[in-house]
Amino acid sequence: MFLLEKHRRLPAYVPGDHEEGDGFIRLNTNESPYPPSPGVAKAIAGEVGKLGYYNDPDCAALRSALAGLYGVKPEQVIATNGSDELLYFAFLAFADEAHPIALPDITYGYYDLFAAAQGIPMEKVPLKADFTIDYRDYLGIGKTIVFPNPNAPTGYAMPAGQVAQIAKSNPQNVVIVDEAYVDFGAQTCLPLIDECPNLLIVRTFSKSRSMAGARLGYGFACESLIAELETIRNAINLYSVNRMTQAAGIAAVQENDYYMANCEKIIATRDYTTRMLREQGFEVLDSLGNFVFAKPKAMSAKALASQLRERGILVRYFDKDRVRDYLRITIGAMQEMQALECAIEMIFGRA
Ligand code: PMP
Repeated sequence: MFLLEKHRRLPAYVPGDHEEGDGFIRLNTNESPYPPSPGVAKAIAGEVGKLGYYNDPDCAALRSALAGLYGVKPEQVIATNGSDELLYFAFLAFADEAHPIALPDITYGYYDLFAAAQGIPMEKVPLKADFTIDYRDYLGIGKTIVFPNPNAPTGYAMPAGQVAQIAKSNPQNVVIVDEAYVDFGAQTCLPLIDECPNLLIVRTFSKSRSMAGARLGYGFACESLIAELETIRNAINLYSVNRMTQAAGIAAVQENDYYMANCEKIIATRDYTTRMLREQGFEVLDSLGNFVFAKPKAMSAKALASQLRERGILVRYFDKDRVRDYLRITIGAMQEMQALECAIEMIFGRA
């Protein structure tokens, strides 16, 4: 009744099924199969008694911890309520009706929603036939640019040198590189922030750091770009990173080795899963994320997703052009991937 006309046709984001605690193996939302490190629980508990007081709006201790870990200045770091919030702020800061955004046609679905909600026109640049991003398509494009690196759901990554060329050829526009999955083997573009004042690196604690439910995102850029983003954060949601999440984030940074060891396990499990799926007759892209994008040959992707669901395994199916023959399968713990293997063998009648 009251919703403005311009918002009435906003597309709906379709999240992965949220079945929790009922025996499902969740290979559909790219979460970590491993629990947070012990210090995280302690840090959260330590904040409970202080919940009556506002959290630090600057996230100063968390930004210093991240700056120390990654060898940058705290002024080059921003923290937000999940990386989705940082992406939303960046769209608001750098694009509008008159300043479009360029992005791949196959990519993270929320970009579409953020742009639609803000009335930002989108130029969708098709991936090549082999699903890679051709960096040359973005050279001198003259628009704000966003893409994940590695891309989702393909898992393909672009070398940092190509990202640098994109940024340098569009000096009047911000290039947003979403590194949600960078810890699983891709090359980071972080060292470029000093030479590319228009580069924003977006990161999250949701994937490699087992904290999707705590909602913690962060970003790196030159000091002036971070200050511009802080202007938006100030105006919209200054206290968006609650005190428990700030403390949890600091603890996770202090226990970084634990998370990096988990990433190594996930990389090894990804290699196992890729080989296993290929043996089962799937076409599997060489992913650098904590997921693989795979096309079954024996039956349609949609039918396989629903048969796996009947066997208690959730995977992600996108009913969209170019990708409806594929499934995105999150890399879980080794036993979960072995359960997937058994289920596939049974479904294909090979067990
Ligand atoms: N970017 C990409 C590419 C993602 O896949 C996701 C998670 N689905 C996000 C950003 C958002 O993650 P979060 O808001 O949990 O940090």
